[in-house]
Amino acid sequence: MKAAVFMEPGKMEVKEVDKPVCKDGEILVKVGACAICGTDVRIYFNGQKNVVPPHIIGHEIAGTIEEIGKGVSGYSIGGRVTTVTSVCCGKCKFCEKGYYNICVDSRAIGYFWPGGFAEYVSIPKDAVSQNSVIKIPDNVSFEEASIVEPLSCCINGQDYLDIQEGDFVVVFGCGPIGIMHAELAKAQGAASVVIADISEDKLQFGRGFKDIILLNVKEEDPVDKVMKLTGGEGADVVIVAAGSKKAQVQAMNMAAKKARVSFFAGLPKDDPIIELDSNLLHYREISVFGAFASYEAQYRKALNIVSAGKIESGKIITHTFPLDKIVEAIKLVKAGKTLKVVIKIEA
Ligand SMILES: [Zn+2]
Ligand SMILES: [Zn+2]
Repeated sequence: MKAAVFMEPGKMEVKEVDKPVCKDGEILVKVGACAICGTDVRIYFNGQKNVVPPHIIGHEIAGTIEEIGKGVSGYSIGGRVTTVTSVCCGKCKFCEKGYYNICVDSRAIGYFWPGGFAEYVSIPKDAVSQNSVIKIPDNVSFEEASIVEPLSCCINGQDYLDIQEGDFVVVFGCGPIGIMHAELAKAQGAASVVIADISEDKLQFGRGFKDIILLNVKEEDPVDKVMKLTGGEGADVVIVAAGSKKAQVQAMNMAAKKARVSFFAGLPKDDPIIELDSNLLHYREISVFGAFASYEAQYRKALNIVSAGKIESGKIITHTFPLDKIVEAIKLVKAGKTLKVVIKIEA
């Protein structure tokens, strides 16, 4: 089969490799689409500890079931599916509570196991037995299904935030994740949704979406602006979907009484310390949450949201490329000239 093989930082080769064998307990998927994630871009340029080259990466996968391993039931050949990226241990205290995304011993498809930038991917037995292979509703395309993974991560972040009808919501970062957060907030009934970004290029993408106030933080101070827009009260919910220390501090400064703040994006590993006025948190009773990855139930919720047309998922995909052009596609994402980019793998 044809696959894009990550060889070393800065080098990926599209070539013929052995088609995976569908072992007992596994499901072999013929990939229809696999979207490029920010982590794929980082792996391509810098490598990553849990990815040992040569390796096929890509975890935002949608495709058709080609073969079903012995002992697997509930699926049929030709069925359209997507898959949960992380596979948990099932035994640790977080798994026991259902927080599979923060399992202490989790492994992932596209990192530990070969991923979806290939014609076929075999879904490992542990993933299949954890119900990680999820059927795609008929009205959802492979491209849309491939962005369900990042959408499920946004849902995980928002599960903490209790967005209510009438809330004033601010999102930092006008990339695909920021826009997904804004779309989800609107679907929850938020009265006003603002996206703030430092890049005019990125804000241009936001213009395609309805009912979003765009804010260029280079031109306007975001805290002043949000205070003005809320009559001095501040935002009910602030989501920082940009790896920026400054944005995290600004998020705290614009948070209203009883606000919920999500530090959704991580900061660079070598520079993660921020300085914040802890009294803001104290007197305003602000809650701050982290968020990392997602689990199966959130994937199902994400698929339902896409299927029901509650968000403009089609507009979040700005480019599609064939597998042969994957390096070009990764470089385009790196340049910040896209929202979601999907690799379409033709039959
Ligand atoms: Zn991803
Ligand atoms: Zn676990």
